[in-house]
Amino acid sequence: MKQLDVNGADLYPQLREVAAVLYKKALTDLPPDVRRSVDEAREREEGLAGRRLEVMVKTIRTSDDTGIIVCQDTGICVFFVRIGTGFPVNPAKLVTALREGIALASERHALRSSIVHPLTRENRQDNTGPGVPEVHLDFVDGGEELEILLVPKGSGSENMSFLRMLSPADGTAGVKGYVLDCVIEAGPRPCPPTIVGVGLGGTADQCAALAKKAILRPVGEPHPEPDIADLERQLLTAVNTTGIGPQGLGGATTSFAVHVEYAWTHISMNPVAVNIQCWRGERASATVGPEGAVSYGY
Ligand code: SF4
Repeated sequence: MKQLDVNGADLYPQLREVAAVLYKKALTDLPPDVRRSVDEAREREEGLAGRRLEVMVKTIRTSDDTGIIVCQDTGICVFFVRIGTGFPVNPAKLVTALREGIALASERHALRSSIVHPLTRENRQDNTGPGVPEVHLDFVDGGEELEILLVPKGSGSENMSFLRMLSPADGTAGVKGYVLDCVIEAGPRPCPPTIVGVGLGGTADQCAALAKKAILRPVGEPHPEPDIADLERQLLTAVNTTGIGPQGLGGATTSFAVHVEYAWTHISMNPVAVNIQCWRGERASATVGPEGAVSYGY
């Protein structure tokens, strides 16, 4: 791809192209940490669960060889964008370009349109609609790059989203118990082995967003704070003793990882949210440099 002209009229059409590339990439090119997790689970598991993991390995290989998407679910697109304050972009035009890129990729690759009006179920056939894709904008003071991360979230896993306003008296034990209850209630429906995102604190909607943010971290990369990393390890051990296993077929690998993100909260609140990512672990990223060079990653 030729370089972006970050100060020219070409910028938004080219950001649209970046979004289109990201959508196809996220659906076909699984991140290396997810691939590694599937391979390691395949080594561990036997019987039906092992055979299911073997199918996952072959599915990844087939997608690599043919460009066919890993799963039929094209998801609901969620962008996380970090804008360096030194990067010259109009945020409103950027959001429009991202939406147009999703529509462009849907047409170009004949991707199933998964997005509908919540009541009429009208489908525009381009994977967009009011509010979709969801775009989170963040700003990096002094930064000179534009970072774009796309997660086309499958419904099987996004339907397994939970929020509860616990009492402060419930403490850490209450948090652990709630997360485990959510994983058990979800059972095989989010296509395990999963990545379990946990949000703690904030307000109700902030807590849910933190849980979603938690699934973006590469599988198994611990939280930088030792206490939170320890909580993640304890939760993963508990989740993997449920015996749900790959695709609900039993085994020791219900989840590849549990990731926790938190914000401080009110003295009389203790919100906990859970957002589950399926085994596909889809995500793709692009970084646009100050000269317009684009590099793709995960
Ligand atoms: S939850 Fe994930 S693997 Fe399962 S059907 Fe949806 S996108 Fe596919």
